[in-house]
Amino acid sequence: MAEKLSAVKGMNDIAPPDSAHWEWLEERIRELMRRYGYRNFRAPIVEPTALFVRGLGEVTDIVEKEMYAFEDKLNGEHLTLRPEGTAGVVRAAIEHNLTYDGGKRLYYIGPMFRHERPQRGRYRQFHQAGVEVLGFNGPDVDTEVILMACDLWADLGLSDIGLEINSLGQPAERLAHRQALITHLEAHAGLLDEDARRRLHSNPLRILDTKNPAMQAVVEAAPRLMDFLGADSLRHFDTWRNLLEKQGVAYRINPRLVRGMDYYNLSVFEFVTGSLGAQGTVCAGGRYDGLFAQIGGKPTPAVGWALGVERILELLKAQQRLPVAPVPDAYAVIPDAAALPTALGVLRTLRQQGVSVLMHAGGAEGMGSMKSQFKKADGSGARHALIFGEQELAQGMVALKPLRAPADGAAPAAQTLQPVADPAAWAPLLRG
Ligand code: ATP
Ligand code: MG
Repeated sequence: MAEKLSAVKGMNDIAPPDSAHWEWLEERIRELMRRYGYRNFRAPIVEPTALFVRGLGEVTDIVEKEMYAFEDKLNGEHLTLRPEGTAGVVRAAIEHNLTYDGGKRLYYIGPMFRHERPQRGRYRQFHQAGVEVLGFNGPDVDTEVILMACDLWADLGLSDIGLEINSLGQPAERLAHRQALITHLEAHAGLLDEDARRRLHSNPLRILDTKNPAMQAVVEAAPRLMDFLGADSLRHFDTWRNLLEKQGVAYRINPRLVRGMDYYNLSVFEFVTGSLGAQGTVCAGGRYDGLFAQIGGKPTPAVGWALGVERILELLKAQQRLPVAPVPDAYAVIPDAAALPTALGVLRTLRQQGVSVLMHAGGAEGMGSMKSQFKKADGSGARHALIFGEQELAQGMVALKPLRAPADGAAPAAQTLQPVADPAAWAPLLRG
């Protein structure tokens, strides 16, 4: 026997019945986007490596150790499987001058790739749904994207999702803070771990994001970026907060929220749940006014977020909000293969009428016993069986047999005969 092959570690197959949950969630997301007027954008999954190195920043977890970067052996190009969605959308917006006639509101849903240690809620291929609002610089759209996420949680019936917000100010303000921060951290150099010492001069802000308990005290006492913000940055932050409050959105200011990518400025935020253990951030984002220029475009303000599809599904499961698996309207029982030409035609018409029908498939040896066919019909969860029996067909009829008792506890309706010649006439009896 040939050697069995497995999926790449940390990359999951999504099979029935779970795939129905994915489709359902994606549908809810698309519906949300429609209501807010966001349009779908599909960037390639592979991009030039330089896009992420320049866009996300050289001294970030993603670029330093999580990227699937490779050389295309056919032409020597340096390519990377996208670790996130924003850089690709912005690359495309610059390339096609998408904002030439004003701002754009875009969304995407798709796989991302990061070489991380696989665990619950953390995979090497995972999926994000994200929004990107390009060309608007006001706190109004910062508020809009937060409200969208809140509406989604409500649509999905999710609870226990808190919002944390912060402002990262502008580059000049961050620079002043950075100096003060380095001075503080240097004064406590003995307490820093290896990661922090390495980042001390390259990316000290990220040290504030440490998960190392031994460093919490140093980080707690560090100078706060908020205290270095100028009037404009503070006004942006205050207007944002005010708009959120007016919409009844509860939030907590987390002065240490800095995010994993270098491209953020001003508004940053995370939606965090306590119901998922360590991997509790389900959605995160912020403003990235500098990214366009950083990757060669003309300066364009922008804001966005991305949610982790796997984590949302996990949360839906934990809070028992996943929909029940869809079942077919009908299962076609075909006692004898001689009935196949008629049955295939009738089923096709029913499907054209919107009825979902599962056809019993026998095989080269025949259709199988009625008993085994009815067992399959039951197992499918279908609400009706359609029986293409020889006697009924001889009269131009097919038997329609309800398989499930109505929810009100009444007895199942009796079997009826329906004309084979006109399935459209009785299709409504089967539909959902
Ligand atoms: P974390 O701190 O959990 O590593 P992050 O800051 O790296 O998250 P982002 O890059 O902001 O995450 O991505 C947005 C969302 O995508 C996260 O909040 C999370 O829900 C999801 N996500 C990120 N990395 C993974 C992963 N490896 N597996 C599954 N979901 C992920
Ligand atoms: Mg990460």
